[in-house]
Amino acid sequence: MELTKLPNIINDLNTVLLPRVCFGCNARLYRGEQILCTPCRDQIPLTEFNFTEENSLDRTFYGRITIEKASSFLFFNDLGVVKNLIHYLKYRNQPQIANFIGDWYGSYLKKDKGLPAIDMVLPVPMHPKKLKKRGYNQVEGFGKRLAHHLNAAYCDDILIKTTHTQTQTQKSRIFRWQHQSPSFALLKPHSLAHKKILLVDDVVTTGATLEACVKAINDEINVTIYIATMAMVP
Ligand SMILES: [Zn+2]
Repeated sequence: MELTKLPNIINDLNTVLLPRVCFGCNARLYRGEQILCTPCRDQIPLTEFNFTEENSLDRTFYGRITIEKASSFLFFNDLGVVKNLIHYLKYRNQPQIANFIGDWYGSYLKKDKGLPAIDMVLPVPMHPKKLKKRGYNQVEGFGKRLAHHLNAAYCDDILIKTTHTQTQTQKSRIFRWQHQSPSFALLKPHSLAHKKILLVDDVVTTGATLEACVKAINDEINVTIYIATMAMVP
């Protein structure tokens, strides 16, 4: 037996003992398959958006914020592979899914002629309390892999999430619920000066979180902002 074949044999043995399964459909994964099985990979709903042409994610931000362009990699449907992937990523302690999506999307983005050279990738931050509970920011791996493919810096210490410190006890629950909006702030705003930044997030629904992030950035400093997300609700 050739010694070079040994790792493959051990891996195969490991697969028999501890079968790895597809995060999209629970089918068994075979050698060479990572995270998703081949059928799930083939049928995953790619948006096929790019940074050159207008798209439906872009349009949701018209008139709300000043950004250069927004794009998303996948369509999030109520049933299906993308929903399962995001569920495992956010609630089942599987942060490696973010790396997988980041590498996949990154391979497209580095060839996207509409996207100029990005200086910094900034993730939408999590509140420290939530971060402590989950143990990781689900966007981190995605942002880091995109930064790697785009030759940009990954910076998670500039845009931060803040807590409302208003006297909330004086307000009714209903009032708080109606007026709850995510709140963000910038540390070291000067470090963004004259930079092209890519703001990244997991799933866009209404776009309220990204809107609040962009406003927090533009309140402090005028920079060129692009947005890329793992998925969007169509
Ligand atoms: Zn599958």
